[in-house]
Amino acid sequence: MESGNRSNRQLSSALCYSSSTKGGQARSPSVIVIGGGIAGLAAARALYDASFQVLLLESRDRLGGRVHTDYSCGFPVDLGASWLHGVCEENPLAPLIGRLGLPLYRTSGDNSVLYDHDLESYALFDMDGKQVPQELVVEVGKIFESILNEANKVREEYNEDMSIQQAFSLVFERRPDLRLEGLEFKVLQWYLCRMEGWFATDADNISLKGWDQEELLPGGHGLMVRGYLPVINTLAKGLDVRLGHRVTNIVRRYNGVKVTVEDGRTFAADAAIVAVPLGVLKSQSIRFEPKLPDWKEAAIADLGVGIENKIVLHFEKVFWPNVEFLGVVADSSYGCSYFLNLHKATGHSVLVYMPAGQLAKDIEKMSDEAAANFAFVQLKKILPDASSPIRHLVSHWGTDINSLGSYSYGAVGKPHDLSEKLRIPVDNLFFAGEATSLSYPGSVHGAFSTGLMAAEDCRMRVLERYGELDLFHPVMGEEASISVPLLISRM
Ligand SMILES: Cc1cc2nc3c(=O)[nH]c(=O)nc-3n(C[C@H](O)[C@H](O)[C@H](O)COP(=O)(O)OP(=O)(O)OC[C@H]3O[C@@H](n4cnc5c(N)ncnc54)[C@H](O)[C@@H]3O)c2cc1C
Repeated sequence: MESGNRSNRQLSSALCYSSSTKGGQARSPSVIVIGGGIAGLAAARALYDASFQVLLLESRDRLGGRVHTDYSCGFPVDLGASWLHGVCEENPLAPLIGRLGLPLYRTSGDNSVLYDHDLESYALFDMDGKQVPQELVVEVGKIFESILNEANKVREEYNEDMSIQQAFSLVFERRPDLRLEGLEFKVLQWYLCRMEGWFATDADNISLKGWDQEELLPGGHGLMVRGYLPVINTLAKGLDVRLGHRVTNIVRRYNGVKVTVEDGRTFAADAAIVAVPLGVLKSQSIRFEPKLPDWKEAAIADLGVGIENKIVLHFEKVFWPNVEFLGVVADSSYGCSYFLNLHKATGHSVLVYMPAGQLAKDIEKMSDEAAANFAFVQLKKILPDASSPIRHLVSHWGTDINSLGSYSYGAVGKPHDLSEKLRIPVDNLFFAGEATSLSYPGSVHGAFSTGLMAAEDCRMRVLERYGELDLFHPVMGEEASISVPLLISRM
């Protein structure tokens, strides 16, 4: 991964702070990027292209973070992000994905109540294996939309925040006609379960005031058929990346930063971009000296981070219906299940079970075998003759010390400017990552944009300081504006 195709690129523990001149010779400003997810890589790439000396420190033995494409089945399967949310030119990732010619599989158009799915191709089942009639699913979907509209009114009427669950209780008091029973109630729970999946947390944690504040780009949602990794690899090309470097300490002084990793080695530069997950910041496993300002610490503490996991079941052959997703409805959203059928999009005989919130937390306590078996038992409820998987893959985003959560959400009763506070630089420390995205939190494109933004802030600050602004290019260079149409299809 380490490049060295430009001389004077390697930063080391001996690197001095001053950026302007040394022995009369000008040298490039330097930056250390902490975290090699999409945000850190976007920042590192942009600053490298703007002639900075860039060193990227990544704790894992791989790049990508919550983008993790696994190839152990003999084909790509994403254990983290797999959708491009917003298949349109405005999507900041569109130029890169278009240029790489990566195909997308559309799973929904704009404004679906199910976010990344619509009801074009699916099958829902009751616990006893009986398929729920499609008309009933559509009808309950409309009722769910009405409930959300009513919840929106509650939001406008009340000054104080409440959870989505509390708002729904108010809605049912006002509109008893929206209360459902029997199978319809169970289908409603399934819609709620998908909403909880979108936020990676249960309805009693989702803030009514925060809900619906994030923006959705137009163009619907497309699955990355060949996985997200090519995007990561392209961004990382030629960068000086140090894998297995877990940062434990960041010291900032007026003239630079000093970053220490687990084994005691220290690296120095003019500035640093902190692009580790919110969960890692919450755990306080990285010590800041001097400590971060109170408003920054409060933002870290108050912003929520939820859990969604993937349990990938690879089968010898396909025995399930040829639909985009399968679901099991139940008496509570906790008991509902959702399986993404990758065969439809990629041709591989794989189902991906995706639990979120408390269910995901509970499953993370199990061994991988037990978790895969749990998912298989859910599948057996709807397809009793299902044959056992030949392989399974299980993600642990909640307990993995490199993530400690899947993605951020606005918690009940907390201010709604926390992402912005998380993003605001502190001296020569810049912050990036999905949780710092105002408009597109919890997404790959949101995280990518924050990396570019942090890079630009960093460039401005470092160069203003040394009066060298005219020497370097802006970080969002010409390349980013070349437009190649996205390749999206549906079968
Ligand atoms: C199951 C799941 C499904 C998802 N689905 C989608 C989807 O379909 N579409 C979508 O747009 N988004 C999705 N997301 C969200 C998306 O993956 C994230 O928003 C995005 O990848 C976050 O990027 P990031 O760079 O902010 O953080 P990360 O990718 O987490 O990168 C942070 C990096 O910091 C490293 N790190 C941690 N601690 C240290 C340390 N002390 N020192 C050095 N390095 C450290 C980590 O190892 C990691 O590589 C999903 C996420 C999950 C978990």
